[in-house]
Amino acid sequence: MAKIDPFKSALTQLKKAADLMDLDPEVYARLQKPKKEIQVSIPVRMDDGSLKVYEGYRVQYDNTRGPNKGGIRFHHDTDINEVKALSFWMTFKCATVGIPMGGGKGGVTVNPKELSTTELEKLSRGFIRALSRDLGPAIDVPAPDVYTTPQIMAWMMDEYFMLNNGEYAPAIITGKPLEVGGSEGRGYSTAQGGVYVTLELAKKMKLKKGSTVVIQGFGNAGSYMAKILTNKGYKVIAVSDSKGGILNPKGLDPVKVDLHKKQTGSVLDFAGAKNITNKQILEVQCDILVPAALENVITKENAGRVKARAIVELANGPTTPEADEKLAQNGILLVPDILANAGGVTVSYFEGVQNTYNYYWTEKEVLAKLEPIMVDNFDLIWKNHEKYNCDLRTAAYILAAGRIASAMKLRGF
Ligand code: NAD
Repeated sequence: MAKIDPFKSALTQLKKAADLMDLDPEVYARLQKPKKEIQVSIPVRMDDGSLKVYEGYRVQYDNTRGPNKGGIRFHHDTDINEVKALSFWMTFKCATVGIPMGGGKGGVTVNPKELSTTELEKLSRGFIRALSRDLGPAIDVPAPDVYTTPQIMAWMMDEYFMLNNGEYAPAIITGKPLEVGGSEGRGYSTAQGGVYVTLELAKKMKLKKGSTVVIQGFGNAGSYMAKILTNKGYKVIAVSDSKGGILNPKGLDPVKVDLHKKQTGSVLDFAGAKNITNKQILEVQCDILVPAALENVITKENAGRVKARAIVELANGPTTPEADEKLAQNGILLVPDILANAGGVTVSYFEGVQNTYNYYWTEKEVLAKLEPIMVDNFDLIWKNHEKYNCDLRTAAYILAAGRIASAMKLRGF
């Protein structure tokens, strides 16, 4: 099967909103192309003495509302087109939640699981060396994404300082460990933001305590989502990682699953649960399905078999436009990525603010600032959903595109 182009999907999502809201044609034209695409090659001296050269990318999609902002992905399938789509989604995500940042994204085509810690550090530092002139707290601020961690952010930050006369400017990158300028709450903020919107959605759907949740992807976003929702009284019945999934209709203890994954390298073979595939997990009957791994997992092929009542997209781009249509026809509500996972970039923005002031907030203060951002914008999107009689994704794009359009018109093209 041909690979689905995520950038094409992203443009289709925008078109739907642009048509409904009568988006200014000049703004629409501008938003169809990134401002800057950068491709670099990164040489790494491997532990065995050989030299490997990796491909890296950074796309700065749009900085009308603030500096470009977005994570760096280390994945063997990553390519420039995926990074372009992800940078597009970052632009709309920051606008959806109204934080003063633009959109960017980076990636390296690599399987980081095959690298030693020393090789991973060299690659991370090499990525920053190759791109340093295009980064900066007021230009473009990276963060973690799939298979990049707070440790990697710390190496990248350190490399940036060395290239800039040792100047301590931690706002160059977010998602850092607390000891070197990270923010309280950043580690689980993507999931926390997802929980705030899930709770709002649950009110609209009149979901009861003990409602069931299925999560594809048990990494940073997915595993925290499982833990926080369990604490809120939801029943997480299935989770998965790259090797496969597990199902227990009576409910899983996410803390124990996490421990099991740390000990065995996977969620598979968890006591009391049945092993299932990553295909099957999307078709498990539940109240809320949370894709929290990669793009293009709900497609026209399987959308008709999704038995969830609602979907909350923690992953970026998990649902294709054809699948969106099918889900809507089947009455399945979907909270789109550009809202559902925006808690991560919002706390990243808070991290940058704290770095700039060199004054740090408590976890309680961070959460008290995050919650109204998620809840208020969920409300605005719900209002658009009713006003335009459209799905929640299109409603979110209408909100975001409106905010970007106002800024573009004020600044000029
Ligand atoms: P992560 O690297 O911590 O975890 C990724 C998880 O997905 C792992 O459990 C991995 O085993 C699993 N996975 C990989 N390939 C898979 C496959 N083919 N099928 C099923 N599972 C698979 O990454 P993360 O940071 O949790 O990111 C997950 C998603 O959330 C991505 O789409 C990312 O862009 C999005 N996201 C992350 C953040 C963040 O702050 N980390 C913010 C916004 C959005």
